[in-house]
Amino acid sequence: MTEPVYLDYQSSKPVDPRVVEAMLPFFTERFGNASALHAVGDDATSTLDDSRARVGRLFGASPEEIIFTSGATESNNLALMGYCLRNKRKGDHVVISEAEHISILNTSKALESLGFRVARVPIDQFGRVSPEKIRARITDDTILVSIGWASNEIGTIQPMRKIAEMLTGTGVALHTDAVAAEGLVPIDMADVPVDLMTLSSNDIYGPRGLGALYLRKGVRVTPSIIGGGQEMGLRSGTEDIASIVGMAAAADIMVSEMAEETSRLAAYRDRLIKEILARIPHSHLNGHPEHRLPNNAHFRFAGIEGESLLLSLKDENISVSTGSACSSKTLEPSHTLISCGLLHEEAHGSLELTVGRFTKESDIDRIIEVLPRVVKRLRVLSPLYTD
Ligand code: PMP
Repeated sequence: MTEPVYLDYQSSKPVDPRVVEAMLPFFTERFGNASALHAVGDDATSTLDDSRARVGRLFGASPEEIIFTSGATESNNLALMGYCLRNKRKGDHVVISEAEHISILNTSKALESLGFRVARVPIDQFGRVSPEKIRARITDDTILVSIGWASNEIGTIQPMRKIAEMLTGTGVALHTDAVAAEGLVPIDMADVPVDLMTLSSNDIYGPRGLGALYLRKGVRVTPSIIGGGQEMGLRSGTEDIASIVGMAAAADIMVSEMAEETSRLAAYRDRLIKEILARIPHSHLNGHPEHRLPNNAHFRFAGIEGESLLLSLKDENISVSTGSACSSKTLEPSHTLISCGLLHEEAHGSLELTVGRFTKESDIDRIIEVLPRVVKRLRVLSPLYTD
């Protein structure tokens, strides 16, 4: 069997071994509950405070602005639901884009069932949303705009600074789901003033099952998890100190290594895009050619199904994706690709390759060697393909 090649960093990342090392003492010796008043509890409290500061530092946020949650889905729920419920006296209207993650799209539907109104702004063929189109949907009743910093599928980066500047002084809060972008593009709250931001630990090589919500000072939300009042009363439940330390250690590594890492990943991405488009006829790049995450290469190949491509590559011990892992078990084509204007068969013929911290040059060599051969073979069998 050939060496496995993993090119699906967008759906899951290994936890960095240095992060695991940092977490280990907190399962055994340092197991305290941060709400307890004895010395073991004090250790947990100071570890929690310190971790909050370290996670905040990666995004230019103060410790009090970071709320730990169970992951990005919960953070997105708390941001949208929590903000709207808390601020409904100011208005009942929310603006999102058509390309948002399923956890935003479905939360926005839940908001509609509670009587809120949601405007969904279209994206262009590259997956970008225009600040002007957002502005055009804002009414006197709009209280919140939620735009993902970058697409977890096609890798397009949104013009967040322009969107934030456009909303400054309007009284409309800005939320961003930064999960796809964190650790891959610089994000600094002093530079791009968003009000709420969703973060995930695994996306910076920390443990799964942990996320955070950045809440700018003064921004209020109604909690959905009620209990002992942990996390400034906004997210009750005993804090998972081991995982929180893991996210903090992951953030420290990003602070020192992100610049070097992202330029290495961008070189892999550029090689993938150049070689695959050159070697495979009738292949196209999805997403934006320039405003693109450094880890993402997303293609479509005329005449073949992404699923059959994925399974053929699986036989070669290569792991790839056809789009968002969060909705991969449905037969629906990607809503993001359809919003970019692709036909159903084009959206179904798409392949997402995402590189990461442990990708090697030899992994890139391998996919570049195997993919053209596999596409050629599938096309011979395909009734949809005529050269
Ligand atoms: N937002 C984005 C952009 C994502 O890619 C994901 C999934 N990785 C989520 C939210 C939800 O994350 P989780 O399933 O960890 O809650």
